Amino acid sequence: MCGIVGYIGGKEAQSILISGLKRLEYRGYDSAGIVTIDKKAKTTLLRAKGKVAELDSKVATHQTSDTAGIGHTRWATHGEPNKRNAHPHHVGDIYLVHNGIIENYQDLKRTLAKHDYTFKSDTDSEVLTALIDYLYKDASSLLEAVSGALKMVVGAYGIALFSVKNPDEIIIARNGSPLIVGVAEDEVFIASDASALVGYTDRVIYLHDGEIGVCTREGIQLYDVDTQVVEAKVEKLELDLQSIQKEGFDHFLLKEIYDQPNSLRSTLSGRINPQTNSVKLGGLNMSDDELRDVRNIMIIGCGTAYYAGMMAGYFIEQFTDDVSVRSEIASELRYRSFHVPDNTVALIVSQSGETADTLACLEELKRRGVKCLGVVNAVGSTIAREVDGGVYVHVGAEISVASTKAFTSQVAAVTMFGLMVARAKGVSSKDLNTYINELDMLPGEIEAVLERSAGEIQQIAKKYAKYDHALYVGRDTHYPIALEGALKLKEVSYIQAEGYAAGELKHGPIALIDDRFFEVCYLQDNWLYEKTQSNIIEMNTRGAHAIVITDTDKRIAAEEVIRIKTKLELLTPLVFNVVSQLLAYYIAVARGNDVDQPRNLAKSVTVE
Ligand code: GLU
Repeated sequence: MCGIVGYIGGKEAQSILISGLKRLEYRGYDSAGIVTIDKKAKTTLLRAKGKVAELDSKVATHQTSDTAGIGHTRWATHGEPNKRNAHPHHVGDIYLVHNGIIENYQDLKRTLAKHDYTFKSDTDSEVLTALIDYLYKDASSLLEAVSGALKMVVGAYGIALFSVKNPDEIIIARNGSPLIVGVAEDEVFIASDASALVGYTDRVIYLHDGEIGVCTREGIQLYDVDTQVVEAKVEKLELDLQSIQKEGFDHFLLKEIYDQPNSLRSTLSGRINPQTNSVKLGGLNMSDDELRDVRNIMIIGCGTAYYAGMMAGYFIEQFTDDVSVRSEIASELRYRSFHVPDNTVALIVSQSGETADTLACLEELKRRGVKCLGVVNAVGSTIAREVDGGVYVHVGAEISVASTKAFTSQVAAVTMFGLMVARAKGVSSKDLNTYINELDMLPGEIEAVLERSAGEIQQIAKKYAKYDHALYVGRDTHYPIALEGALKLKEVSYIQAEGYAAGELKHGPIALIDDRFFEVCYLQDNWLYEKTQSNIIEMNTRGAHAIVITDTDKRIAAEEVIRIKTKLELLTPLVFNVVSQLLAYYIAVARGNDVDQPRNLAKSVTVE
């Protein structure tokens, strides 16, 4: 959530901050702001409601040659998304940007009010700014004031700040919200996400929770919250410029849908081999004996990652006979009573590796001594660091708020883990071979759908963009896909969409069907074909506007039939899912929506 950038060096800071914010805008776009400071401590603060482009137009008339500053794109939690609540906040000597939530801000606000502090915004972040300013009055250094303040706050934060008393220093700190520092010759870059650093430097330091960094033109010094020096580990940033650009596509969402054949190849590469019928995930840190002992797999995620886990769980239970898989919504699991049977492995699924609820589950499971593996995209992220082992999905940067390529690769990664468990348990090679072959074929099959069907889907989308409601239904392995399809549609088109198990229609949702609805039905030519077809007939009888996605040539009575030719059988839902992704995309475009930055959402949910 939200983007933080910072720069201190020899170059003009405003344009570096704006370019960083533009790359981070997918993490929040309610308002944006930057403040820069010159050598004589004169500051220039610019803030605007809305997108970074609004802020950028202000910069044009307030250009400075300052060489240090901080910036922010906001995803509002406390206080309306308006200019008054936009960051950076300024109180006394301090300018500050904040990502996260200060839970005890009201108590702190009351205390500070007694010391004559008044507040211009409704945010928790301004209270933290005031607290640091207050403590700074009696502290020997800004570092000491920051450390004192952080000991008093409860909540999650990534912060960057400076004082007008020292224009040559920016202080950063994190607890639960990511911060990365890029180091180069005589300059330091600060960002809440690696994509803002690409092209500036590939030498980065990932801040850990509880660390405070003092950045100067000479470099960064890290401290713990008690201001004891901590050694910084410089790592190489593995992200290229290409993966954070649209490359000729109108939107990141479309680009990332089209990335899937290649991003999936990266996930599978070196890990499956159909010739030798083998699967090998390098980073699990589990012996064959440990894999053989697995009886329960718990897959935890939020939103699309949750559905990815559910989808893979359906596959895994098909090819194992003594493994139970359960998928869990992280925000539920973290607060409810739950039991973990013996011989459980937990898979922690998160694109960003920073999802707050998922991370909380990881911490609880580790406390209980459960083996936890990560299925993560962002290298070096908190979840990736805290798990016992895991699989990087390697899909490159996913910029669109609505996740597509990460989903497909998460399913593939979790399925591969299941295959390794099955293999260790001695499940016959023949049974596993079909899965390995189909995983190998999947990128090509997705490529074929993108080539052959995108035009047709676009035309159909134009017809259905006028509806206000949609129902997505499927059975068995198509049920998770129905849920994910409905989620994708609602995220980008704002059409109210429900995903249902087709067999559940009669138990309630069929009552919804009327002229304001359209229905998307996943109909695979397999042992459930007749059953699912009956559901479609039931809906048609009640005047449904059904779009059927199918791999059969058989005659189907429906308003629209999207026929997908595929050589797959078991993994067909993942190909059908690409159809729903395109459908959601084209419907959202037809409705004139901002598909990459849908309203009220932001990428990487690092707050509860
Ligand atoms: N809680 C802060 C606010 O509402 C920060 C939100 C964010 O992470 O963008 O301003």
